[in-house]
Amino acid sequence: MQNKFYMTLYFYISILYKYMFPISHFNQVKTPFYYYDKTLLNHTLSTLTRLAEDRNFVVHYAIKANANPGILKIIAAAGVGADCVSGGEIKAALAAGFPAKKIVFAGVGKADWEIEYALENKIFCFNVESAEELAVIEELARKKETIASVALRLNPNIDAHTHEYITTGLNENKFGIPLEMLDGVLAQMQNYTHVQLVGFHFHIGSQILNMESFRLLCERINRLQDDLARRNIQVKHINVGGGLGVDYDNPDKNPIPDFESYFNVFRDNLDLRGGQQLHCELGRAVVCQCGSLITRVLYVKKSLKKQFVIVDAGMTDLIRPALYQAHHYIENITSDMAEQQYDVVGPICESSDCFGKNVTLNATERGDLIAIRSAGAYGEIMASQYNCRPLPGSLIE
Ligand SMILES: *Cc1c(COP(=O)(O)O)cnc(C)c1O
Repeated sequence: MQNKFYMTLYFYISILYKYMFPISHFNQVKTPFYYYDKTLLNHTLSTLTRLAEDRNFVVHYAIKANANPGILKIIAAAGVGADCVSGGEIKAALAAGFPAKKIVFAGVGKADWEIEYALENKIFCFNVESAEELAVIEELARKKETIASVALRLNPNIDAHTHEYITTGLNENKFGIPLEMLDGVLAQMQNYTHVQLVGFHFHIGSQILNMESFRLLCERINRLQDDLARRNIQVKHINVGGGLGVDYDNPDKNPIPDFESYFNVFRDNLDLRGGQQLHCELGRAVVCQCGSLITRVLYVKKSLKKQFVIVDAGMTDLIRPALYQAHHYIENITSDMAEQQYDVVGPICESSDCFGKNVTLNATERGDLIAIRSAGAYGEIMASQYNCRPLPGSLIE
C-alpha cells in the first residue's frame, strides 16, 4: 500500500518534472537516441484517419519508414493497414497488431519464403512487380492450395521531381511493370488458377511536395482505366502508393503534413469506377515529424576557417544526409547563448558523415544536447553498426 503511494507520487513528480524541465530527463538516457513525440504522432494519425475516412480512402502505413515496435503499436492502434516490403516487415506488422487482412506486400525481389509466409498468414494482397514474380506466386499458392490476391504494380513513367535515389515511377527504374507490358501479363494470367487480380498499384517516389506529380498520376490511371473498360476489365482496388513529403526546414511550423491537399488531388482528379476502393501507402508523412535524433556534443573543434561541432551521433545513426544529401533542421536544445555558425559532424571516418554545413546554432559547448529534427522516417530503421558502433536507443513519450 505504502509502496503504491510512493509509486503514484513518483509518477506525478516525474510528469511535473518533465513539464517544468522538458529536456532535463534526457540526461538519463544514453546518447545518441531517437526521441519520439507520442502526442504529435497521435495527432498526425487522427488527422490522417479522419481525412481518409471522410473520403472513403484506405490508408496503409509503409512500415519501412520506421519499424520501432513502440511506434508500430501506436500506428496499428489507429486502425490503419500496413504496407510491407519484406517478410521481416510482415512479421513486425503482425507482432504490432496490424490485422493480416490489412497488409499489402510489395517489393521487386520477394524471396520464396517471404511469399510462403505471406500466403500462410493470408495477407490482403501482393503488389506484384513482374511477370516472373507472378509465375512464382501462382506456383507457391498452388502448392499451398490457396489463392493469392494480387495487384499489379504498374510503372506509370512519371517524374516525381525528387531526389534520383527516391524516384521510382520512371521507366528506367527497376520497379513495377511498364504499362506497355500489361497486356502480356494479363494474357499470362488467363492460364493461372491460384492468383486473383484484385487491383492495380502505383508508387512514383518519395518526399513529393508538388501535388502536380500526383495529379499526373491520376491522369495516367484514368487513361489506363478507360482503355481497360473498353475491354471489360475492371479491378476492385486502386492503390496510389505513398510519397507525400514533409517540411524538413520548418518542423515546428508544419508538424503535420498536408494530408488534405494530398487526398483532395485524388478525390478531384481520379475517376474511380463503380465500387472501386482507393488505397494509399504513406510512410514518411506519418512518422517523420514526431522524431528527433538527440545527440551530445563531444568537441567544438576550431579549425582554420570553420568551427566543427563534433557530436556522438554519426551517419550510422542517421544516414539521410550522407545518402541523399538530405537537409535536417538542427538546434542546440541546451544553450541560449548568441548564435554562431558551425559544421555539425559525426565521428565516423567518412567525409560524408556530416549532418549540416554552416548551421546556425546557439553558442555550443562540450556536453550540450543537439536535436536533429524530422528524423522519425528513414532514421532509426536505417541505422547500422559500421565502425562497431552500438545502435541508437529510443524514447517514446
Ligand atoms: C517506400 C514506399 C512507400 C512509402 O513511401 P513514403 O515516401 O515514405 O510515403 C509506399 N509504397 C511503396 C511501394 C514504397 O516502396
